[in-house]
Amino acid sequence: MDNAFDIIVVGTSFSSSFFLYNYLNKVGKSVRILVLERGQKNSHLWQLQNRKLSSVVADSTFVNHNQHKIWKFIVGFGGSSRAWWACTPRLMPNDFKLKSTYGVGRDWPISYDELESYYTKVERIMSVSGPSDAPYPRSQPYPQPPHLFNDPDKILKQAYPDLYFQQATARARQATKNRALCCGNGVCGLCPTDVKFTIQNELEYLYSDSRITLRLDAEVLGVETSAGNASGVRYLHEGAEKIARADLVVLGTNAIFNPYLLQRSNLPHPLLGKRLNEQISMWAKIDLIGVDSFQGTTSISANGYMLYDGPHRSEYSACLMEIHNVPNLRAEHGRWQQRTNMKLIFEDLPDEKNYVKVSEADSSKPETIHQGFSAYTMRAIDKLPELLPKALAPLPIENLTISGPSRSESHILGTVVMGDDPKTSIVDKYLVHHQVRNLLVLGGSAFPSCSPSNPTLTISALSLWAAKHL
Ligand SMILES: Cc1cc2nc3c(=O)[nH]c(=O)nc-3n(C[C@H](O)[C@H](O)[C@H](O)COP(=O)(O)OP(=O)(O)OC[C@H]3O[C@@H](n4cnc5c(N)ncnc54)[C@H](O)[C@@H]3O)c2cc1C
Repeated sequence: MDNAFDIIVVGTSFSSSFFLYNYLNKVGKSVRILVLERGQKNSHLWQLQNRKLSSVVADSTFVNHNQHKIWKFIVGFGGSSRAWWACTPRLMPNDFKLKSTYGVGRDWPISYDELESYYTKVERIMSVSGPSDAPYPRSQPYPQPPHLFNDPDKILKQAYPDLYFQQATARARQATKNRALCCGNGVCGLCPTDVKFTIQNELEYLYSDSRITLRLDAEVLGVETSAGNASGVRYLHEGAEKIARADLVVLGTNAIFNPYLLQRSNLPHPLLGKRLNEQISMWAKIDLIGVDSFQGTTSISANGYMLYDGPHRSEYSACLMEIHNVPNLRAEHGRWQQRTNMKLIFEDLPDEKNYVKVSEADSSKPETIHQGFSAYTMRAIDKLPELLPKALAPLPIENLTISGPSRSESHILGTVVMGDDPKTSIVDKYLVHHQVRNLLVLGGSAFPSCSPSNPTLTISALSLWAAKHL
């Protein structure tokens, strides 16, 4: 049958591509894989010439009436890898066991140690640049040397040797086969020199594998089931609704569309679509006395962990500092470099009041409902004016201005939560649906807790892990 395959993978971004990376190595030459991608392949040149990342307007694909809380992603081949800033810290070991360590949130069904070798593999595939030391245990050094600190970073590193590090990043420090090195121009969303890792510049070759049939402009509408198993997917292609059959279905469409597709597939669960979350961030502009900045070699030069892990997480959330080396200068003659800018990123505690549902106005789209961040997170933000000056005391500060919060952190998480208990989770620790055992749901939708750290390295490691354990 023309539309019969062994496996169907939906989406072509991090979660699907890293799954395929391990899966293709594991299965035989005769396996038939259908990949369905809703958007098109817009080349890097196309993106530059059209000054946009995709031919599809992401906001038109879902409903959101809350302009205070927006959600950002890219539709098209390679998904949001086109837009990301390629910040790749790992989660901290305690992020996986928030409940048992600090009595809040949820534990993950998987530990840092279990994921460690998968982190290492993703870092190798992405050619991540990172420090020789690190805030979390590592079995191997980063593949690329670190980017250079700016001068305020050097002061903070000296004061906090175990809490301040060059940022781990897939913005190249050294040229790779496909990418030049980062020039720190600060326009990482659409990197003009194509130096950050994207699916298009490093993993597009996967989709040329003879076992894969890639269909673009193919929007999946739902998963087909029969006798408790997934039997295929329904999708729109070339103006017609079609069905493709397979023995295994893998969704990698992000934490807005994964739950929506399950909701439209009549696979209910009390938590499906619930706990939609991401981090929230504030900005600090720090004017310095006699210290110049912006000498680093990439757009974000460092991460500070001074407000991240510790007993305070029983009471208020962890905060990751991201030091932006983009020259947002001081408008003062002779002192224009005497400033450092940082983003303060706070974890949220996922809450069922924030969710994704099938839109009542237009059932062909998901709708996001966000009714606020947790009190746990807001307590941490309220404490920032007191805690930040103390943490930055080693710097010669003239003025410190805090602003925010951001409307989006561009990290969508939590709506198809993973866990050991089918009553309180939808997928198991291998991202297999608890009820439909030949259905995998990849990506940040599985995250049981938020962590202030950027999620995509972990999303990619989980995809390698899921393929390995299949
Ligand atoms: C501006 C920006 C900056 C970011 N910076 C960072 C960063 O520095 N570090 C970090 O860790 N993370 C960052 N992120 C987040 C990161 O991009 C996401 O975590 C990551 O892309 C998630 O990967 P994914 O494969 O799960 O989903 P996505 O990247 O959202 O991809 C989903 C894929 O599914 C396809 N799709 C969706 N619906 C359907 C359907 N119905 N049928 C068929 N195909 C479908 C889409 O076209 C796409 O290919 C950033 C994101 C943005 C937008």
